[in-house]
Amino acid sequence: MFHNRSLSTVYLLLFILCAGLLSACSIITPADIEDEPAVQVPVRFLLSFDDGPSIRTDIFGRNPTEYILQQIENNPVQNDIKAIFFVQTRNSNGGGTEQGKALLRKEHQQGHLLGLHSASPRGHVAHTDMSASELDQSLKDGIQDIQRITGYQTVFVRPPSWYYDQDTYAIYKKNNLNMILTDISARDGVIHVFKISFRRRSHINNELYKIRRQIINRQLPIVDGVVPVLVTFHDPNTFTAGHMTEYLSILTEEAANVLLPVSDKPFYDQTNALREALLHKAFISEF
Ligand SMILES: [Zn+2]
Repeated sequence: MFHNRSLSTVYLLLFILCAGLLSACSIITPADIEDEPAVQVPVRFLLSFDDGPSIRTDIFGRNPTEYILQQIENNPVQNDIKAIFFVQTRNSNGGGTEQGKALLRKEHQQGHLLGLHSASPRGHVAHTDMSASELDQSLKDGIQDIQRITGYQTVFVRPPSWYYDQDTYAIYKKNNLNMILTDISARDGVIHVFKISFRRRSHINNELYKIRRQIINRQLPIVDGVVPVLVTFHDPNTFTAGHMTEYLSILTEEAANVLLPVSDKPFYDQTNALREALLHKAFISEF
């Protein structure tokens, strides 16, 4: 039994290693794309965090949600960055606890927005796996949970695991919720167990190059003179929390590498502007 489990762990690690190597991609540099059209409108990064708050601590005794809040407030790239946290309000290891609620209050007090990810005590359940009545009730519960903390009714939802369909979308709309997807995912939500993220820099570099193409093809909205670029992380991931400041640098450095102009303020730092940008990023149904 123990032997089999050890063996399967080794296979799993090998699989992840191979997957990491296979997905390895090279860094695009200015020399690679100097003949491509210039991008005229600067981008501004809009940070979003899913799945929190977390009440765990890492091996250094740090709470990952709290540590991320500290870093986006104070770092060498840009201080006082404001983000949106798509939260789980009733998790027994997070938002459902007193410590979790205190973290949600702190996020709000520091000027970050709270959006809804899940409000089911069942946790991170795909909305597409819920009955219509369970989803509807969980959204109403979540809106109320967030309102108790912030005083406002959130109008933003991000579906767990990005699973949505015509029916869930209709129930979001009925509850006055805009569905927010992402432009770039740090891919830090899929390998929680190992808390590692392969090829972070080249992945973000390649994603930013795709953004560059989308801007040239006029596929992304311009809001107040910038192109908001949504970036998604997971604050309960202790690896992410341990590297948040580095991620901020990677985003601005790799934008430069793919000749993507960045606004004077590379990140959103005003709550109202953040909300406005999110409204422009809301998913519009093609159903
Ligand atoms: Zn999630």
